[in-house]
Amino acid sequence: MATHPDTRTVHHPVPPTEGSTPLGVPLYQAHTFAFADTDTMAAAFGDSDAPYVYARYGNPTVAALEAAVADLEGGAGAVASSSGMGAISSTLWSLLGTGGHVVAQNRLYGGTQGLLDALRERWGVRVTLVDAGDPDEVREALRPDTRVLYLETMANPTGRVADLPALTALAREAGAMTVVDNTFATPLLCRPIEHGADVVVHSATKYMGGHSDTIGGVTVFADPEVLRAVREQTAEYGAVLDPFAAWLVSRGLRTLGLRVARHCANAQVIAERLAAHPAVAAVHYPGLPDDPGHATARRILDGGFGGVLAFEPVGGRPAGRAFAEGVRLAALAPSLGDVRTLVMHPASTSHRELDAGQLARAGISEGLIRISVGIENVEDLWADLEQALS
Ligand code: PLP
Repeated sequence: MATHPDTRTVHHPVPPTEGSTPLGVPLYQAHTFAFADTDTMAAAFGDSDAPYVYARYGNPTVAALEAAVADLEGGAGAVASSSGMGAISSTLWSLLGTGGHVVAQNRLYGGTQGLLDALRERWGVRVTLVDAGDPDEVREALRPDTRVLYLETMANPTGRVADLPALTALAREAGAMTVVDNTFATPLLCRPIEHGADVVVHSATKYMGGHSDTIGGVTVFADPEVLRAVREQTAEYGAVLDPFAAWLVSRGLRTLGLRVARHCANAQVIAERLAAHPAVAAVHYPGLPDDPGHATARRILDGGFGGVLAFEPVGGRPAGRAFAEGVRLAALAPSLGDVRTLVMHPASTSHRELDAGQLARAGISEGLIRISVGIENVEDLWADLEQALS
């Protein structure tokens, strides 16, 4: 029976047992597996479809998470990683190789930006940064030897939504694969493979885990051959997910539908109230009708506009910092997607290494505040943000 993703997060597959089915995901906290004879063990080595051998190559609890996320994203399969950056780096290393060409959007998570810089400096990877909002610029940047177009469904921290159907079509024409970081949207709001993406990466640390208690990543593939290659690389680099972390993410997934709906509803209210507040100069949230990404967001996202917003307080950098230090219910903390509201000032933290010009190109003003809106009661939350604004 075809079911809604909200239902599939609750009913996600668990490793089978004999005679009955556990409803919670069993935690196999085992890194090695014993065999009855050397032939069976020998056959299992190097065959990813064979029984479990060693947890760096596979573990039932990790496999349950991989199956659940692949199902939610509509992919052929998934590989779990030790973090979101583990997922992104294993994927890019596998797909690019030495000297490969990647076209990436210029509004990117800072860690991914840093990885692209390192790939360029150490491995000769050629990187062209583009404004993903300008299809002509993307078309011009794609060359016959481009291997990857790298996008984020919703760019950090301004939430700008990428026109995935248009951009993946351009990459396909050029013979490149599209990799999409879908962390901000989650598979409940957007499934990039349905819009033509080849690979979807997630920091499971954020909404999937959801409780600030674990770190992990998951990569989903449309093509099983690409999956096989990246799985091998992930095991070789050792960027694999620990079974207990996989168990925590699987547990988080069960309530993802409820949480994402509440994150989106709260963020919409907070964005509208901030936009009407005299101490606020601008709000960036794709759920606001005058946001430049609103029309695209309505086409690409399904069920809400996400839980992250950014705003510019009147008074620039000092006002931004004062706000960040003034919140009491919200926490001044990095990361996003937690049940609690998290506030940060990108210009002095995540993007501190950028000069004024680079900040402007990334759409980050000196005073900009990013809020990962949590699932608290929205009136309590607004009372806190309002007192911090004053
Ligand atoms: N992708 C996005 C959009 C992120 O915001 C982050 C972290 O903030 C990552 C990837 C990296 O995830 P992790 O910290 O799990 O490595």
